[in-house]
Amino acid sequence: EREGPVEGRETRLRVVLRVRPLTCTETRRGDQQVVHSLGDGAVHVSAARHDATFGFSAVFDAGASQEAVFEGSGMRQLVELAIDGFSCTVFAFGQTGSGKTYTLMGPLAQSETQPASPALLGLMQRSFTCLLDQSRSRGSDLALSASYLEIYNEQIRDLLSPGPPCALPLRWSKTRGFYVENQLNVEFESLEAIVSLLLQGSQRRRTSAHALNRHSSRSHALLTIHIRSRAASACPSKQGTLCFVDLAGSERVKETGSSGELSVEANSINRSLLALGHCISLLAKPRGKRTHIPYRDSKLTRLLARSLGGSGITLMVACISPSSRCLSETLSTLHYASRAR
Ligand code: ADP
Ligand code: MG
Repeated sequence: EREGPVEGRETRLRVVLRVRPLTCTETRRGDQQVVHSLGDGAVHVSAARHDATFGFSAVFDAGASQEAVFEGSGMRQLVELAIDGFSCTVFAFGQTGSGKTYTLMGPLAQSETQPASPALLGLMQRSFTCLLDQSRSRGSDLALSASYLEIYNEQIRDLLSPGPPCALPLRWSKTRGFYVENQLNVEFESLEAIVSLLLQGSQRRRTSAHALNRHSSRSHALLTIHIRSRAASACPSKQGTLCFVDLAGSERVKETGSSGELSVEANSINRSLLALGHCISLLAKPRGKRTHIPYRDSKLTRLLARSLGGSGITLMVACISPSSRCLSETLSTLHYASRAR
């Protein structure tokens, strides 16, 4: 394995917290705010029988802009490492409605012709801009392509494929590791092109054929940018990846009194989020102390094995609501995220 640019426990895995503002509905019904940022990466939760403090690499509170999150989370460094041939991954983790999609993509655009205001663009679009700027300043010696997948009930679906949705097989080979057979990998050269792929794929995710209303909150979406440097033939070409993962809502779906289909969903979400938490907490340990990392426990962790186990940086953005009504899910997200740390 290639020696990483950033060895050491603190820097390989970075966990930041984002607390979204109270929504209008929450404010109107008078929800109490139970989460308070203390500065210096600390956050305090205080409510009836709870009083706890958690620490992160950074905490972004309700007033933090999308730009502040991009700059303060170190996202720019992940983009630069990916260009240098490393594999970097960003996760958004949290219960449904906590701001995962907002953090990654901004508020969903009404249509392609009516894009969101530039100030509200998320980590993804900001990273694309940064990537394309760097590519241009290097005289366009980077070949860029994207793939976009969804994992729903342990089935993988290609969000870029125009045909009817079908499950794609996950394979393993010695040279490639885990890979998805027949997945589309679309080349792009401009910001417009990659943003349009992102919108088309996200649209497909929301309106999938087997959609329940909240389908998108029960699936994991993985957008991977492949970056190959068209280096002079003398030196070996580098290949880096930048992967953005919008995870399924972390709420314990089994508590909603569901049956049949829903509990299959709940099980597969729980299984993959537990497997991910397990892999990440092992990866957070110093290299010498690592035991075997159980990537095989879910499709999500298999797909991410190379980027998690590689030598780049993994950034987890844990998202929470400040409302008293979300207290128990908020505490469970804070525990999950601080365990990873
Ligand atoms: P999730 O993807 O975790 O289910 P969303 O990103 O869809 O949650 O956010 C839920 C709602 O809260 C959306 O209406 C979104 O626009 C809003 N929201 C989330 N985070 C913020 C934020 N930081 N600032 C303003 N609105 C936000
Ligand atoms: Mg979402």
